[in-house]
Amino acid sequence: MARIALPDAPAVVAGHGHAAIVTADGELLLLSAAEAATRLHSLPPPILVHAPATFRRLGLRGMPAFDLLELFAFALPARPAAPTPRGLALMLDFESPAGGLEVEAALLPELAAALLHRLSLGREIAVNRDAAGLAARMGEAGWGWAPFVAAALGRPDAAPSNEALRVWKRLPEWEDTAPLPPPSAHPVGETEARARLASMLGPHAEQRPGQADYAGAAAAAFAPRETRGDPHLVLAEAGTGTGKTLGYLAPASVWAEKNHGSVWISTFTRHLQRQIDTELTHLFPDPTERHKRVVVRKGRENYLCLLNLEDALGAAASGLGPASIIPLGLIARWALVTADGDIQGGDLPGWLAELFGVATVFGLADRRGECIHAACPHWRRCFVEHTIRRARSAQLVVANHALVMTQAAWGGLDDSTVPTRYVFDEGHHVFDAADGAFSAELSGLETAELRRWLLGAEGGRSRARGLQRRIEELVAARPLLEAPLEAALQAARALPAPGWSGRLAIERPDLDGLGTGKPNPTEALLRLIRHQVFARIGGDPRAAPGGEVPYGALECDVFPIGPGVDEAAVRLARAMARIAEPLGTLCERLLARLDEEADDMDGATRNRIEAAARSLNRRALNPLSAWRGMLRALSEPRPDPGGGTRPDHILFLRVQRASDGSRDVDVGLHRHWLDPTIPFAATLVAPAQGLLVTSATLRDSGDADPETAWASAEARVGAPHLPSPAIRAAVASPFDYTTQTRAFIVTDVVTGNIPQLAAAYRALFIAAGGGALGLFTAIRRLRAVHARIAPELEVAGIPLYAQHVDAMGNATLVDIFRTEEESCLLGTDAMRDGVDVPGRALRLVVFEKVPWARPDILHRERRIHLSEGNPKAYDDRIARLRLRQAFGRLIRRATDRGVFVLLDRQTPSRLLSAFPSGVVIRRVGLAEVVRQTREFLCDSLPA
Ligand code: SF4
Repeated sequence: MARIALPDAPAVVAGHGHAAIVTADGELLLLSAAEAATRLHSLPPPILVHAPATFRRLGLRGMPAFDLLELFAFALPARPAAPTPRGLALMLDFESPAGGLEVEAALLPELAAALLHRLSLGREIAVNRDAAGLAARMGEAGWGWAPFVAAALGRPDAAPSNEALRVWKRLPEWEDTAPLPPPSAHPVGETEARARLASMLGPHAEQRPGQADYAGAAAAAFAPRETRGDPHLVLAEAGTGTGKTLGYLAPASVWAEKNHGSVWISTFTRHLQRQIDTELTHLFPDPTERHKRVVVRKGRENYLCLLNLEDALGAAASGLGPASIIPLGLIARWALVTADGDIQGGDLPGWLAELFGVATVFGLADRRGECIHAACPHWRRCFVEHTIRRARSAQLVVANHALVMTQAAWGGLDDSTVPTRYVFDEGHHVFDAADGAFSAELSGLETAELRRWLLGAEGGRSRARGLQRRIEELVAARPLLEAPLEAALQAARALPAPGWSGRLAIERPDLDGLGTGKPNPTEALLRLIRHQVFARIGGDPRAAPGGEVPYGALECDVFPIGPGVDEAAVRLARAMARIAEPLGTLCERLLARLDEEADDMDGATRNRIEAAARSLNRRALNPLSAWRGMLRALSEPRPDPGGGTRPDHILFLRVQRASDGSRDVDVGLHRHWLDPTIPFAATLVAPAQGLLVTSATLRDSGDADPETAWASAEARVGAPHLPSPAIRAAVASPFDYTTQTRAFIVTDVVTGNIPQLAAAYRALFIAAGGGALGLFTAIRRLRAVHARIAPELEVAGIPLYAQHVDAMGNATLVDIFRTEEESCLLGTDAMRDGVDVPGRALRLVVFEKVPWARPDILHRERRIHLSEGNPKAYDDRIARLRLRQAFGRLIRRATDRGVFVLLDRQTPSRLLSAFPSGVVIRRVGLAEVVRQTREFLCDSLPA
């Protein structure tokens, strides 16, 4: 390796309560966190990995540093790496460092040298054409790595240049193609599906008969529809390890090919979208071919908006946050090589937002619906527009449940395309996803967001444009359009003004925060809602006088309605009508231009008008219509609550408080469908031709009667709302759970006692030697346990990471956990479902408590009305499905071995059927569980 210049700097790695520093002279210092923090103040800025996480562990507020992650993002843009010394070492083909913090600290300069060396080798490649000038520009903004990067690129004297920041100039343009004709409707035979699966797996693959059976059964979802409104719905349960992703990709890809159509594969989260995309390498090993045939489709708020990037660069250049040139420079590097411009869960490392702030990075997406479409100078290079066009001709579109439900409800996302064939993976989440997609909330955050969308930023440093600026070219000098726009913008002042959340606790309804003295009707209602919630949550010990301040979600029923709420609702409904009516007129008159000027209107203007009308409907008219309906419901006569009437909707009030109880985050009126599969079936399922809904956990194993188990699985995806019955299929897991697993319920730990709970986690994690996932039902207990066990685990050589504690997002935490086999991870719901960590990296799952459903108002109503008269069985079913999901994290491959521990000694035996057959559950004391865990997992260590 050519000689590489490095900063004359110490290297630091922080643990829990202590740290290792290797000075520039090579002296090793092992210090307490406080001593290390003091020492660092007298040393040059250190080399480290993940500055926010390191400084948080040292109790520092932040200081200059050479963060290796920034250098990594510059040198290897759009490449993944777990943000730890070990993660970077693995990515750079180093031997995995064995040893403690001191070994890792000593490694950091070597990692820096390796990254700079890679840059020096790539001096001539296209992406590095302006890299030295960019580094120098970032150096002007304070980037410490700048001179070392410029030297590695062979241009130590490079002048600062803005050229590489203007990345839009170097991106390719999309080209329009003719609209595709509708797909044909040839069926997929079982044999064809099996044959496609075999070709994807290759001749040397392990034989899994269940997988081929599953692929054959899934083919039924691709039969031609016989009656309008009556699609083929296949429910297919595939036990863990079946290989269901390739199993359904086989018939889906055959259908898409034969019929020249698209199949939309929907999963629950963005992270799972990435996993499916990875599996598609079996189908399309050639990346160019894959890019053509497969699109990962997300909402437009996930993609880098080049106009926002240009605005942000302009703001930085004019002196507003000049240091933001550093993250913008790294994002510009990434934008040149990214697969699709997805900045949330795509190939932009998730830790970049942790380093520079969520607002700095994710704020570059079109999160607020402010896109100006064809009026944008970057429209033809826009990542969103590229993705929309690719999705139109792709064979397989990988999306998520929330997106496809929104698409169905709107009749298309950015055009009128609505799929006819779907695969819903993680089908057990359909009910919850539909609950979110078809609910409505009239809250402070939502209504203030609409005001901002209409009026733009009012004061402050925000760059947000209002509606007037976004559509001014479409309405200018047209009084028939200008008049309703002006009226709507005037009326929008009835929505909450900036600073609204701080005013709701003030009992001065005459204030609107802008000094006009006029009451703001939205704030007036929100203030009364807040008052009613605090009045009704009596009995909650968190709200007791002198007790702990209220935090989290506080809810109460709407009825009986509090004093003044109905009158305030009527006033607000009138105010909202004054916004909606002129906006509706504006929308109609804009669309009328399409007809009136059809002969001489250019394509770009047509596109802009259509996009503006879509935005007006989705961003303003639809929510205003839903809110007005909710407000009307407050003054309508209520049916007798004791009459047993089954409502269509559930209304409730909620105050969302910060987790430390320091402030209100949001206040609002919420409306959910009692059964959200009704709108799901009506808007998405019935218009489709065929759907496959699949999961490892569709049926509740607690139902002794198989028919009851299938019926409840069908009810959770809306099958009873269709004319024909669903087609059922099930394939058992191929794993030998008796041999591969141990499962325990601990009988002598009081989970409400934090010292006991922490001691149990500590002993179990140490017995497993790491590789453990600790699951909690409450964030506060997670934090308390983390604080108690992290230092001792570290002494035992087991790094501990935690959701809600470490300055890292969930995807980053899972990446680290997967990479570092000895690490442990604490988390809540998001970690329970859908985390795929095969092998030894996950060998122990410890569950703090039975995961009962949250006992809130929604659950109360659903257990009454959707439980067929047996609310207890309804609760049990939810808990069993959650336990099955959690257990499913443990064994991902035939060679995995794992231990599952429930610390809740009150776990009812009727829940134990949640576990797959072959699992033997033992109720024993903690000491015995620790002993057996150690023995079982040590036996499984590689020789
Ligand atoms: S077309 Fe819209 S999303 Fe794309 S760069 Fe322009 S403003 Fe941003």
